[in-house]
Amino acid sequence: MKILVQKFGGTSVATLERMQKVREKVSNALRRFNKIVVVLSARAGDTNNLLQLAGQWSPAPDKAECDLLVSTGEQMSIGLFTMLLKDADIRARSLLGSQIPITTDDSFGCARILEINSAALLDWLNQYDVLVVAGFQGCTIDGRVTTLGRGGSDTSAVALAAALGSVECEIYTDVDGVYTTDPNICSSARKIDRIAYNEMLEMASMGAKVLHIRSVEFAQKYRVPVRVRSTFTDDPGTLVTQEDSTMEAVLVSGIAYDRDQARVTLRDLPDVPGVAAAVFGPLSEKGILVDMIVQNTSLGGHTDITFTIPRKELKQTLEIMANVAPKLGAAEVLHDVNVAKVSAIGVGMRNHSGVAARTFAALTKEGINILMISTSEIKITILIQEKYVELAVRILHDTFGLDWDLS
Ligand code: ASP
Ligand code: MG
Repeated sequence: MKILVQKFGGTSVATLERMQKVREKVSNALRRFNKIVVVLSARAGDTNNLLQLAGQWSPAPDKAECDLLVSTGEQMSIGLFTMLLKDADIRARSLLGSQIPITTDDSFGCARILEINSAALLDWLNQYDVLVVAGFQGCTIDGRVTTLGRGGSDTSAVALAAALGSVECEIYTDVDGVYTTDPNICSSARKIDRIAYNEMLEMASMGAKVLHIRSVEFAQKYRVPVRVRSTFTDDPGTLVTQEDSTMEAVLVSGIAYDRDQARVTLRDLPDVPGVAAAVFGPLSEKGILVDMIVQNTSLGGHTDITFTIPRKELKQTLEIMANVAPKLGAAEVLHDVNVAKVSAIGVGMRNHSGVAARTFAALTKEGINILMISTSEIKITILIQEKYVELAVRILHDTFGLDWDLS
């Protein structure tokens, strides 16, 4: 049985006309596949409205009840859409996460999928040609409704594709794929035809919103090819898949940026064991995600530690540091919110040297000062003043030849 999973995002199901367009995509796919599992998001804006409603009712909405409420956005979508399929004489039925069930842990608001009852799904697929599944939701072992975090329908879709052995998981959205960088700030940004899971993970972690990050982790783990494409065109989109030699031949695949950064420096700390643990321990206890960390070499037994965090965590971080710094004997705590990071990403970096040198040279030519640097096997990240982000992105895009159309 050839099964295809197709997921449609909130803008794709926002109106009757758009849902009719989605029905066309599904019925076309039925010519090529025996069975289709359609995963839907809530209609654009519905999830936000439901969350707002919860906030009006309660100053601190109960997490489990909030999930029950917010999950209704997807319930509306699947009810409405399945009606349309039936009107076109397509054998279809809707399914909530709890009806399958898609079992998750009990982290309400950001639950993780534990298991999917694929036997039940295969049974239904014997009776129906299309199953329309509510994305973003599951339920605990004892039957309480959970949600998977904002944007979580992508993860529902990839998990279903993995559980059913779907040939591919198509993620339909309002853009026609993954771009070499943000087309809003770089007019020569190009759509990428194929991208490796690792690269996509790095792009997503930098805030490229096209895929829910956990969906990419899932796809990589279970080797599900994911195709990101537009509901409104016939473009084949971008295939997110396993790395191959053609990808390695490309030095840099994309340039990503993240303005949501703040930098904190502790000056003149004693250079003795335990200092870093004393700085970062309390931050991790509060769930504050520290990203880049730099410790200077010791000068006369003293050192500076600088790190970055998401901007919204700055206030809490400074409060924690106000407590930690005097205990450690730091001279002062400095911070800066007008910073942003820019990354060049590509699996090709593993086998080629010189990416860092080229990055620095390109920025130097424009007089952009580099505040911090961090590297991994497939990524080089620099922290710069926020006002230079757009310029830096365009320069690096050009430096690594991303505006050349190689196809
Ligand atoms: N409706 C949910 C959200 O807006 C899940 C999704 O669309 O993927 O976050
Ligand atoms: Mg989304």
